[in-house]
Amino acid sequence: MSKAYRVRPGTKVRLKDFDPNDTSEFKGDKEEAQQELEKLNTELERLQECLYAEGKHKVLIVLQGMDTSGKDGVIRSVFDGVNPQGVRVACFKVPTPEELAHDYLWRIHKMTPGKGEMVIFNRSHYEDVLVVRVHELVPGSVWKKRYDQINAFERTLAEEGTTILKFYLHIDEAEQKQRLLDRLADSSKHWKFNPGDLKERALWGQYMQAYEDALSKTSTDWAPWYIIPANKKWYRNLIIARLLVGTLQSLNIQLPQPLSEVDVERYRLQLLVG
Ligand code: ADP
Repeated sequence: MSKAYRVRPGTKVRLKDFDPNDTSEFKGDKEEAQQELEKLNTELERLQECLYAEGKHKVLIVLQGMDTSGKDGVIRSVFDGVNPQGVRVACFKVPTPEELAHDYLWRIHKMTPGKGEMVIFNRSHYEDVLVVRVHELVPGSVWKKRYDQINAFERTLAEEGTTILKFYLHIDEAEQKQRLLDRLADSSKHWKFNPGDLKERALWGQYMQAYEDALSKTSTDWAPWYIIPANKKWYRNLIIARLLVGTLQSLNIQLPQPLSEVDVERYRLQLLVG
């Protein structure tokens, strides 16, 4: 399972070869998937508490995908129940003038996790080879260098103790159309509707090309990309939860040593007489 959907370093990705409706890694029905997700939520809660208590590892989760692909939904469903202490979400929007005055990794680096922390990037430095490329916000000679720069940046983070997981939420154009229509049909969801999304949607082919290049050039042993079939929300959540829990389990995170029996007794007596 752990290898499914992982982009092997050096592979030339063609997104047409990946089915966004795929559910082949789960044999049961949606209700059974929900039950497994709930178990994974509980295990994630436990692992995150250990991560925080141990204060040694740093974990970075990158979420990328087209509008409506479910970045917010993953954050809500997969991280349901984790202690907000020790978990942060960083959203990267159109850069501010101050951010633009610096190199594109400046605002990113500041938000990376410290020891014991788990940070979820809702969009990321990959926007600088996606929207920036599609809209030609910088010349080709500038964004083309960024793949190597990003690999070097992520390698530094990894060598300094950060575990990095990158998820591309793969939906197709028809699914996006339906999700946008659903938003329009429900006035309580209008706040999520952005007319600008229609302009980006018109550039679908160019975005797919930009994603294919990013996925091909920046999936590394130290910061792998996973292409997550995301037309079915339950499956998307389940697969991400499995990958995350599996990765955290492999870190062998340990709670700090418990107190000795002698210390427990000493403190207990101090409390009782105090
Ligand atoms: P979201 O869609 O993530 O919920 P918004 O609707 O505010 O939030 O969209 C954020 C926008 O910021 C996206 O269109 C995204 O492409 C854009 N953005 C993010 N990073 C950059 C960047 N480095 N340069 C230009 N635009 C960016």
